[in-house]
Amino acid sequence: PAWVTRVRQSGNPPRAGGFSVLVTGAAGFVGSFTSLAIAKKGWGVVGLDNFNHYYDPALKLTREKLMHKNGRIFVVHGDINDADLIRALFHIVPFTHVLHLAAQAGVRYAKEDPMSYVQSNVAGLVSVLEVCARARPQPAFVWASSSSVYGLNSHYPFSEIDRTDQPASLYAATKKAGEEIVHVYNYLYGLSVTTLRFFTVYGPLGRPDMAIYNFTESILSQTPIQVYRGPNNTAVARDFTYIGDIVNGIMAAVETAAKSTGYKDHGKTKRKARPAQFRIFNLGGNRPVTVDEMVTMLEKTLNRTAIRLYESMDGTGDVPYTAANLTLAEKHLGYSPRTSLKKGLKKFVLWYLKYTSRNRTPKNSSPAGEPSDPSP
Ligand code: NAD
Repeated sequence: PAWVTRVRQSGNPPRAGGFSVLVTGAAGFVGSFTSLAIAKKGWGVVGLDNFNHYYDPALKLTREKLMHKNGRIFVVHGDINDADLIRALFHIVPFTHVLHLAAQAGVRYAKEDPMSYVQSNVAGLVSVLEVCARARPQPAFVWASSSSVYGLNSHYPFSEIDRTDQPASLYAATKKAGEEIVHVYNYLYGLSVTTLRFFTVYGPLGRPDMAIYNFTESILSQTPIQVYRGPNNTAVARDFTYIGDIVNGIMAAVETAAKSTGYKDHGKTKRKARPAQFRIFNLGGNRPVTVDEMVTMLEKTLNRTAIRLYESMDGTGDVPYTAANLTLAEKHLGYSPRTSLKKGLKKFVLWYLKYTSRNRTPKNSSPAGEPSDPSP
């Protein structure tokens, strides 16, 4: 069938010895930019995404068009719970890496649809790991966890060895469960595992369910925005991380993982040559900013005043403060975020204005809201 040819073309690296990466959640915010970065390197990349309706799927289709146009990337429409489909993809392309980004994201939505988190972040994760563990050659597994695993921990900034046993939301709990599940696959099957804990990612083509997108929309339409306050009316802060920086961190993790897969004999089923790596890295922005400060920056960028409504974040599942210690990521991945929130917000707003104005004129046939260069 035609899709097999498209998977083969998209997944096989044009350069001999290049990697081939299966990206789950490829139509997502982080997945689409990372897929483009992989294609730009000259490696093969095949996407997998179920294009769910958690937020406007039109944005996912826009990203899909961009990936096709700028990277000749093919995204298979399917679910990570479909292990037969993933196995079939491995038969077509012997992936060197699986970059697992598909998940039910969002903290607050977990109160509305708890089972979708279990389905994608626990069952779906196991489905992908089962295929990876048995594939020969075995791919390196790189996947997205979240700063939310630090939960109610208030030992700032968070280091990878800090406690993660007090999640504040079901989203956080399923990511934490995921971190324990991947350990089993590393221990039992010698799967090389790299866990990346992202801290509040934002930028062009970003998620409409997240604060920066939401607030921009509200400031422009002059509707009130909810600014959460923490316990005892303290300011809430986030270690906002620009998408270009996150992509650099992921790319470094992909390259580093390849150097240390347990199975050196790609293609054969010999015992592993040495223990496969098991690593966890924070990927953050290096400077927590209060939500109030962020709104002020947005006001300046948009040249409009926000209508702020202060509300307690109690009962939402959100945590008051996040801050990443980046020592490990710096040391092993050479990771160092370069885009300030001020600069990143400008890039976001430029894209947002273009995207929303183009979407109001459906006659335009080119992919809506092509981002300005996302690189930091
Ligand atoms: P996103 O929602 O834009 O992308 C996730 C993609 O996965 C979506 O396109 C969705 O359609 C797809 N998906 C969900 N369930 C699926 C399933 N069962 N089968 C196939 N596809 C499925 O989110 P994002 O912001 O790009 O996040 C990427 C990853 O990073 C997620 O694992 C998320 O939990 C994690 N993360 C994101 C942030 C952030 O601030 N954006 C922070 C921490 C962690």
